[in-house]
Amino acid sequence: MSNVPELVISGLRASVEGKEILKGVDLTVRGGEVHAIMGPNGTGKSTLASSLMGHPKYEVTGGSVTLDGADMLAMSVDERARAGLFLAMQYPSEVSGVSNANFIRMARNARLGEGNEVPVLKFHRELQQKMKSLSMDASFSERYLNEGFSGGEKKRNEILQLTMLEPRIAILDEIDSGLDIDALRIVAEGVNSLRGAEFGLLVITHYQRLLQYIKPDFVHVMMQGRIVRSGGQELAQKLEAQGYDWIKEELGIVDETIAAGV
Ligand code: ADP
Ligand code: MG
Repeated sequence: MSNVPELVISGLRASVEGKEILKGVDLTVRGGEVHAIMGPNGTGKSTLASSLMGHPKYEVTGGSVTLDGADMLAMSVDERARAGLFLAMQYPSEVSGVSNANFIRMARNARLGEGNEVPVLKFHRELQQKMKSLSMDASFSERYLNEGFSGGEKKRNEILQLTMLEPRIAILDEIDSGLDIDALRIVAEGVNSLRGAEFGLLVITHYQRLLQYIKPDFVHVMMQGRIVRSGGQELAQKLEAQGYDWIKEELGIVDETIAAGV
């Protein structure tokens, strides 16, 4: 088997609370590639991320998702993670009573599969070293998962998990929100250290700024639950300079608030 991962999303439709949000998303992410999804608020970017990971609130109503040919939609959240899928959430949850280090160790052991464990000392040494490279204080390993973490600390912690788990395909949802420029650079370095043929990345972001640090090979625009434009880095630059209105015009999308006469 080739070690180059391939995530294939095809015609994906998903609903939240009975309302269809994703209306047929097609996207393939392979190892070695970085894809960026940009788009206005409320167009379904986080819904795509949550649906790929199997969040119970998001009901997939059509299409398919495979990783290396295996049907992701038939798998539980745990099984998807074990298969090598990772999601850094826009709003990470706080979990009281579980230390950060234990959480990451359990996730890592689960990822290694039945009967395999990282030796505890080796794990802690690696954790401390990676926390240091993310400029996280050593005390974060024993604190409860995300509890009382600031917005920026939560984001760093997501990247800590990412670098400790070494997934095959990672989805980062608005990892740049709430980060100042120094933190952004540190987080981007952590992400870039994983780049290689055995790692594929999907970054969801509002701002071109992140893409100056994590350089995408492909940029996609999502609107109204579909990918409506794809291109290279120049597309992100055009969006930064001109916003999304030109795409709406090309597509004949009428702003809903205007159409409603509000
Ligand atoms: P984006 O990430 O592009 O800003 P989202 O995927 O978060 O957009 O949201 C798309 C639409 O789905 C919005 O109209 C939002 O209100 C709705 N939505 C998303 N998640 C939920 C949820 N858990 N409950 C209710 N509505 C939701
Ligand atoms: Mg979002």
